[in-house]
Amino acid sequence: MSKIGFIGLGRMGSSIAYNINKKFKTFVWNRTLEKSKQHSTKYGTNYIENIIDIPKQSNVIFFCLPTRLEVEKTINLIKPYLNKSHILIDCTSSDAISQKIIYNELIKDNIYYFDAPVSGGPEKAYNGTLTSMVGGNSEKYKEIEEILKTFSKPIYVGEIGNGCAIKSINNILNVSHLCLASEALSALENYGIDKKLALEVINRSSGRSLSTQERIPIHIIEKNYNYGFALGLMNKDVQLALKLIKNPIMFSNISSLLKESLDKYGNDADYTEIAKLFFEK
Ligand code: NDP
Repeated sequence: MSKIGFIGLGRMGSSIAYNINKKFKTFVWNRTLEKSKQHSTKYGTNYIENIIDIPKQSNVIFFCLPTRLEVEKTINLIKPYLNKSHILIDCTSSDAISQKIIYNELIKDNIYYFDAPVSGGPEKAYNGTLTSMVGGNSEKYKEIEEILKTFSKPIYVGEIGNGCAIKSINNILNVSHLCLASEALSALENYGIDKKLALEVINRSSGRSLSTQERIPIHIIEKNYNYGFALGLMNKDVQLALKLIKNPIMFSNISSLLKESLDKYGNDADYTEIAKLFFEK
């Protein structure tokens, strides 16, 4: 039976570790120790004070950190304690190319590494209903699928880095849909039609999207711009997606919209606040 190490108890990681621990004994580490202690008290996980004890206590180690930079730094810290009994799984939304580099480095010591970014946000993370998109060795994947199922519906997407490539494209679609719907609803409002009425119609019509069905009515109108995903992290994903798209046509404005909203609201603002550029003109 695998023992799990989990590094990074943020909005997503905290709930992912909580769900894994229901089936697999889980050791948690977080930069701010207090959060790990609280996690153990609340969810029955085992907190670890010194990160080098994570590979000593566990054989499957998860990461859920802001960007590839924190993941690389963390892997370097624990690397002297890793051996071929370890499998590493990175749930961070990261860079496909750097995932290949990390994989190639670790495989020299027979340590398998997967990218497994997730989609679904804090609510689905808590309910254990995320989507995880998993890249890496297909044979070894069989050993980790049961663990991934404790918090997500996993989809194996081929070679290392593919998960992150798809994730970045998913997120540029997500925020672009949000801007598109916000511009459209704002035009109708200026014309004199209430947003909620317009949403009711559009959500029963062909122009609907996740943004018209959930983000705008629930997370913007009802919860006042509170979804639980930072604008700065969305910008990271969009910049990664644009590295793949290269010469955007439909996505040619999204970077400048993100820059404008980051200048106005800051990195830690909720990503839905980008819609204020349209609704609060
Ligand atoms: P949070 O900002 O809520 O959490 C970040 C975590 O990383 C915290 O545990 C934080 O520790 C830790 N951390 C930050 N900097 C460092 C560092 N230098 N060294 C070690 N640990 C560090 O982020 P999320 O949980 O929202 O996001 C995590 C990942 O999941 C990101 O890649 C994001 O893009 C992705 N994601 C997020 C979604 C969302 O809806 N929020 C949805 C899907 C994917 P500390 O507690 O000490 O600050």
